[in-house]
Amino acid sequence: MRLQRSAAAVTTPLLCLLTLAVSLAAPAGASTARARLTPTPRAGYQFSPPIEEFSPYQPEKFCRKTVEPGVKRFERLLTSTYSGTAIVSDLRPCASDTSEHYDGRAVDWGVDYRKPSQRADGKAMLQWLFATDAFGNRDAMFRRLGLMYIIWNHRIWGSWDQRWEHYSCKGVTACHVDHMHFSFGWAGAEAKTSYFSHRVSAPVGYPPHRRTHRRH
Ligand SMILES: [Zn+2]
Repeated sequence: MRLQRSAAAVTTPLLCLLTLAVSLAAPAGASTARARLTPTPRAGYQFSPPIEEFSPYQPEKFCRKTVEPGVKRFERLLTSTYSGTAIVSDLRPCASDTSEHYDGRAVDWGVDYRKPSQRADGKAMLQWLFATDAFGNRDAMFRRLGLMYIIWNHRIWGSWDQRWEHYSCKGVTACHVDHMHFSFGWAGAEAKTSYFSHRVSAPVGYPPHRRTHRRH
């Protein structure tokens, strides 16, 4: 994702109700049979009821040189669950816009919405992230992973308002049609949230001790 610093994504509602009707509603090409065959991740751990609140919005601030450990583990979860898919980007050199890719807190997963099998994989992943758990915690895995927002196929789902909104963009890649973007808050990025540590974590602030350099 590339957020312009002046865009104020948190405070500026993005209005396009018509577009909301598109996207993750049942795609024309995905049959019920295909959907049943699409796997969902296995957490490999029986969680207890306590769970994190949604990650606060913590926009990119640094130019980092490493991918955060929680992000790496999430990448492995994606590619091991959905064979044939790939991570297409994570850490990137800093530029003039705002992107958690520069912090090592973002990952782009190569699921193209235009391709039925990849679209099914992406939808299955989202259903897993946003499912209500056995304790009634909604959006449970999204919260336990410490995710901050997701962008896919012209839409963005952010922890700040917890709903899909239109993502203003132009072009296949900029509109995230050919990949799904995930940004983590610092707690999830550092693998401190309950998905990784099995203990509920309070939000984690910026790590000033790891600051590298600011862009010019
Ligand atoms: Zn991205």
